[in-house]
Amino acid sequence: MKEYMDKAEKYLLKTYNRYQIVLDKGDGVYLYDVNGKKYLDFAAGIAVFALGYGNKEYNDALKAQIDKIIHTSNLFYNVPAIEAAEKIVKSTGMKKVFFTNSGTEAIEGALKVARKYAYNKDNTKEYEIIAMNHSFHGRSQGALSVTGNAKYQEGFVPKDCVAVFADFNDLEDVKSKVTENTCAVICEPVQGEGGVFPADPEFLIGLRKLCDEKDILLIFDEVQCGMGRTGTLYAHEQYGVKPDVMALAKALGCGVPVGAFVVNEKADGALVPGDHGTTYGGNPLATAAVSKVYDLYEELHLLDHVKEVGAYLDKKLDELAQKYDHVKEHRGVGLIHGLEFDQPVGTMITKAMEQGVIFINAGANTLRFVPPLIIEKEHVDEMIHVLEGLIKEL
Ligand SMILES: *Cc1c(COP(=O)(O)O)cnc(C)c1O
Repeated sequence: MKEYMDKAEKYLLKTYNRYQIVLDKGDGVYLYDVNGKKYLDFAAGIAVFALGYGNKEYNDALKAQIDKIIHTSNLFYNVPAIEAAEKIVKSTGMKKVFFTNSGTEAIEGALKVARKYAYNKDNTKEYEIIAMNHSFHGRSQGALSVTGNAKYQEGFVPKDCVAVFADFNDLEDVKSKVTENTCAVICEPVQGEGGVFPADPEFLIGLRKLCDEKDILLIFDEVQCGMGRTGTLYAHEQYGVKPDVMALAKALGCGVPVGAFVVNEKADGALVPGDHGTTYGGNPLATAAVSKVYDLYEELHLLDHVKEVGAYLDKKLDELAQKYDHVKEHRGVGLIHGLEFDQPVGTMITKAMEQGVIFINAGANTLRFVPPLIIEKEHVDEMIHVLEGLIKEL
């Protein structure tokens, strides 16, 4: 492994401090490094691999698509993109889909929709977007401008940055930041990277009302909390609050790089031909994956499964939070959970890896649990056993 890691540091731009393992393959909810060591995966490639590794039906669908055609460009129609878009529209009750290659690009597109929506009303070129503190929306200039994390923004925020930040779950704070230039409010129904913070129902309900009153767009970033992660296909379903624009990615393609932004009736028509584009976005390989993902979620009754195993994980993490003073708080829903400690969790993550369990963090002091959605209760027990041992060592 050392040889590979040395080579990686030699050739890959150093923007990550990577964990010291080289992953090689996966099987179900387990990963294997190049030495053949097995790891129980509670990260799923950062909430991506919902179906676990090596789902035969999924792999076969991709292999078949590779043999047919991988790429066509958006100058032509292709069947997988049409079918995938139909599934997204029917499952959201929204109107239209634009496919991207990543979550960041889905956010970029959503922001453009909001700006254009305002522009179409009165030709205004002045825009402000209200975003939340501790949010995460991506690393491009636009997505970064609405990411409420000083560490990520430092040195990179564009000069014409139009974002104004409010406190998550503080409706009065959001209201106080609205001006005549506000064109959108963007938030994650469950903040992921920021530390796993689910929104309060009153907050999202209040945002919906506010955006309707002001005729501005409500953008939900469901890149991490969408695609069944919370136990409903989309997190906002649990709140009974619908966005005008929604961003999806991560588990949307279950491993194939793909994202999407979805618009409702109100936001549809903001962008017209020529306003937005992408070479790869919605290519047949990526959208064949999306289409298969939607089919498999149904076939496997995955949402029911997430509710059941999610409730079990919830109970087990609650028990740890009650038992150990080092655990400050447990937050989460479905199969996205965070355990906040009174100290940084980096060492615990490294030790867990040595013992064959993969965790990631969400902020310095919070362990994040975003396993493949096919995880079973016995895997939760296996993980809890290792985790409890590590908490006792603190
Ligand atoms: C990961 C993430 C993004 C960015 O997605 P990429 O695919 O990494 O570009 C945006 N928003 C949220 C909520 C995310 O978790």
